[in-house]
Amino acid sequence: MRRRLIAGNWKMNGSAASARALLQRLAEFADDSKDVVVFPPMPYLSLAIDGNASSRVGTGAQNCAAYEQGAYTGEVSASMIADLGARHVLVGHSERRALFAENDATVLAKVQQALAAKLTVYVCVGETLAQRRQDQQQTVVAEQLQALIAELPASAWSSIVVAYEPVWAIGTGETATPEQAQAMHAFIRSQLQQVSPDVAEQTRILYGGSVKAANAAELFSQPDIDGGLVGGASLDAEEFLAICHS
Ligand code: PGA
Repeated sequence: MRRRLIAGNWKMNGSAASARALLQRLAEFADDSKDVVVFPPMPYLSLAIDGNASSRVGTGAQNCAAYEQGAYTGEVSASMIADLGARHVLVGHSERRALFAENDATVLAKVQQALAAKLTVYVCVGETLAQRRQDQQQTVVAEQLQALIAELPASAWSSIVVAYEPVWAIGTGETATPEQAQAMHAFIRSQLQQVSPDVAEQTRILYGGSVKAANAAELFSQPDIDGGLVGGASLDAEEFLAICHS
């Protein structure tokens, strides 16, 4: 049985004051049948870890370096994130792939760093609008997953969450229909059969892309959707709590 997981990706938004206020409201979340994790901007990571210390909400970073340590000005290593007390990290978000030239090799290197630091890694995959129009969504996502399936040991997958985020649905207000999302989640699960039947059964697959309180319940009721990776709507405490309760 896979536990429901709701993750809030704050992206590059807010301030120390707004982060504190948001965390204070999220601390009310008391349903221990679900996991909730927030991903604040890096400078607010410590603040969030402290703010979440006595709540059920976990804390993660939105990115980590592809390298262990050394002369990489401006980068933050996975072990530094773990050292602060965070337990989760997002890797390969489509904004990182599109705006910061991350490719499947970079994503793999970051996943390896994160696993070495004992973080839970949320690997984002998904197709662009042009790729969906050409019915390439399965090919694209299979390729993104293959980079990991081929290189990681089967044991790594107990620390990996997959987030399916169709790029055309991110921040656009356009959500994949529950049927479109379910079809892709089932496809991702079938790809994980290459690792093992247990990994395919146990790996949590989140949907991301304009998740809001109004569509969360229907998306999350699909058999292969184990929760959501929420961007914009995670910045509003009431909306995010409503999604967590969906
Ligand atoms: P969105 O973002 O919910 O604002 O569409 C999702 C994400 O990028 O993780």
